[in-house]
Amino acid sequence: MSQHTPSVATSHSLENLAQSLLNPAVMRPFTTLLTPGGFLLLVIMAVLQWIMPPASLSALVQIYPYAVFGAGLFFGFRFHRSQLLFATLVLAIADRALLQYAVGDAPMEGVGRILFNAAAVLVPLNLAGLSFIAERGLVTARGLLRLVIILTQLPIMTLLCRPEQAGLAALLEHRLLDIPFVGGLPIAQPALLAFGIAFILVTVRFICRPNLVVSSFIWALVATFLALTAGHVGTVSTLYFATAGLILVVSVIETSYVLAYRDELTGLRTRRALTEALLKLGGRYAVAMIDVDHFKKFNDEYGHDAGDQLLRMLASKLTKVLGDDKAFRYGGEEFCILFSGQSIQDAIPHLETLRRAVEASPLTLRGLDRPTQKPRESKSDGAQRQTASVTVSIGVAEAKDRNTDPEHVIKAADEALYRAKNTGRNMVSV
Ligand code: GH3
Ligand code: MG
Ligand code: MG
Repeated sequence: MSQHTPSVATSHSLENLAQSLLNPAVMRPFTTLLTPGGFLLLVIMAVLQWIMPPASLSALVQIYPYAVFGAGLFFGFRFHRSQLLFATLVLAIADRALLQYAVGDAPMEGVGRILFNAAAVLVPLNLAGLSFIAERGLVTARGLLRLVIILTQLPIMTLLCRPEQAGLAALLEHRLLDIPFVGGLPIAQPALLAFGIAFILVTVRFICRPNLVVSSFIWALVATFLALTAGHVGTVSTLYFATAGLILVVSVIETSYVLAYRDELTGLRTRRALTEALLKLGGRYAVAMIDVDHFKKFNDEYGHDAGDQLLRMLASKLTKVLGDDKAFRYGGEEFCILFSGQSIQDAIPHLETLRRAVEASPLTLRGLDRPTQKPRESKSDGAQRQTASVTVSIGVAEAKDRNTDPEHVIKAADEALYRAKNTGRNMVSV
């Protein structure tokens, strides 16, 4: 009988940790969170801290904010990214208004102080709100309403600066709690509360939807916080406001790039990524084409959302059985697997394992959307829960040397798939 000693157990758990760290699927939410936003912010902080002190950057602030805010407004408008456009607008207005009326060291006086306090409450709340909006276009009723909400804050801020509203303006620096540490920060407690709420909201949003745009809002909030807690409105605050804008711009550009290579529904790599991967291969490799059997019927019986759920389940099965680096979504309900350095005979046992795993894993359907026909072959274990089984057909072909045209190999795998379909489905064919 074998017994695990503590050191063996530790080395196993370290091994598991190392494996998780090397697994792109496990690490994706972390890399999505940290790059590019966290990285960009770190670079700017390091530059300010160690390489170029703020005083030597006065020339840069003549160009950097205009370039970034201009790019944010342009890309936002051109690519219909209302989140980017409106967030850039908020950052640009805050930066320019503070430079105009509140420039200098904290604590400011008079109008500058009121505007600073108001901006420190409103900017984080606006950014948090914008991180939640769905892209519904710019020149639409919703788009215009959002623009009106943002622009209405300007006359409200102007009103706050009038002497008769002094009581209301004082609320912006009202001491909510007696915490000694907080007293040393250059922003008042209502602003800290606004930042706290904004961070929580955007983080929850990221946990529910871990994507680059939401992660960029987290880092834009951090950059805005640094802009307002620098203790000085001028070069440093502008650099941080512009960096917040840059983080948002880069995330939108990177999202477009990622979407070309990573399928949004399944998380698998796309056909474009497959084409590039095939061009890099030399020598022997095998390619398998996988197609869901009777998928049209599945969609008709259980609804399109259930069909999407099935595609996601299949994608996770593919990565689990074959590894994250082999599977691609070829299009619709067709997947492609690349076995680098392997022959048909090497690939077949893996493909058989996959075929059996799909056959043996009924999908539990959540909240069905209006199916066009009454579901048949399904077991019900509650009002909203049903299970449905599917099978896949697989065709496989190989390239023997680097002279083989990848397109011919794909075509041969497709023909093998066709044979699998014609000979009864739920099988691997060569
Ligand atoms: P066969 O066994 O011969 O493959 O029959 P089939 O019904 O699966 O036929 P085919 O492979 O041509 O099915 C394609 C269907 O896949 C058509 C379309 O409704 C569905 N489909 C393609 N992409 C998606 C998608 O992203 N989501 C959903 N839900 N369905 C999709
Ligand atoms: Mg098909
Ligand atoms: Mg099919």
